[in-house]
Amino acid sequence: MTRGESNARLATPAIEVREARVRLGDTDVLRGVNLRVQPGQMVALIGPNGSGKTTLLRCLLGLQRLDSGHVRLLGEPIGPTVLRRVGYVPQRLPLDASFALSVREFLALRRPDTRGWFFQRTRTTDDTLLRHAPGLGLEPLLARPLSGLSGGQLQRVLIAYSLLGNPELLLLDEPTAGVDTPGEQDFYELIAGVHARLGITVVLVSHDLGMVFRRATWVYALNGVICCEGRPEEVMNADSLKAAYGIHVTPYHHHHHAPMPVPAEGVPITLHRR
Ligand code: ADP
Repeated sequence: MTRGESNARLATPAIEVREARVRLGDTDVLRGVNLRVQPGQMVALIGPNGSGKTTLLRCLLGLQRLDSGHVRLLGEPIGPTVLRRVGYVPQRLPLDASFALSVREFLALRRPDTRGWFFQRTRTTDDTLLRHAPGLGLEPLLARPLSGLSGGQLQRVLIAYSLLGNPELLLLDEPTAGVDTPGEQDFYELIAGVHARLGITVVLVSHDLGMVFRRATWVYALNGVICCEGRPEEVMNADSLKAAYGIHVTPYHHHHHAPMPVPAEGVPITLHRR
């Protein structure tokens, strides 16, 4: 790649949303959303319940039509071609207890070079799966039945599944509360590890403002429109959060002059309606 080509790639936003409007029923859910995500960022999309986060994510995935405005991913309009370069991790996968695949079998189906070995548990299959989804602690899970995993383990498998497609952009809906069981690596730490190792653009819908502050490189606060955006230290202050949430956010005061709602490691910020 020449320097010019490389610069051109850098200049292409991973996500570009312009004046996106979506009305669902009698609610104007998205009322002119604009965002431009630079490649390689770990972006957090925050906002109160009902602020349109899931709807925006559905627009990016081509699952929700815009009433007006437009969306481009990786420089292209939404469609099957560009969506092949995008990974998606859902909140959860509702699994029937009778869903009899093992983790290995489920993951092997994701790739042409492992699909063929579906009925043969070879070392090569495992190597390929582990190489393309590194750092998720997958190996001890491979032989386990998918339907017998804990919430946290299933999240790891879903992240792995998305990575097996070699995505350039990874979109994640916040995991359901309480997926982590004691001793399991925190979901957000896993995602931060994926972002650091693979350098891909990550967009995470999140309620966990403590994680956002520690891990995101850029934050968008949504409430029908983008209320504010910036680096976490710029956005995560009481004024910006009040603009997004419409409520007073009581920061966790580490010491009394803490300028921002910075939680102690692992202590969630609590939101209070005043
Ligand atoms: P968030 O993910 O931020 O909680 P959503 O995007 O799920 O917000 O929802 C935004 C708003 O749109 C909510 O008020 C919700 O009730 C409404 N909504 C979502 N889906 C539909 C639908 N299919 N029909 C009507 N209203 C909907």
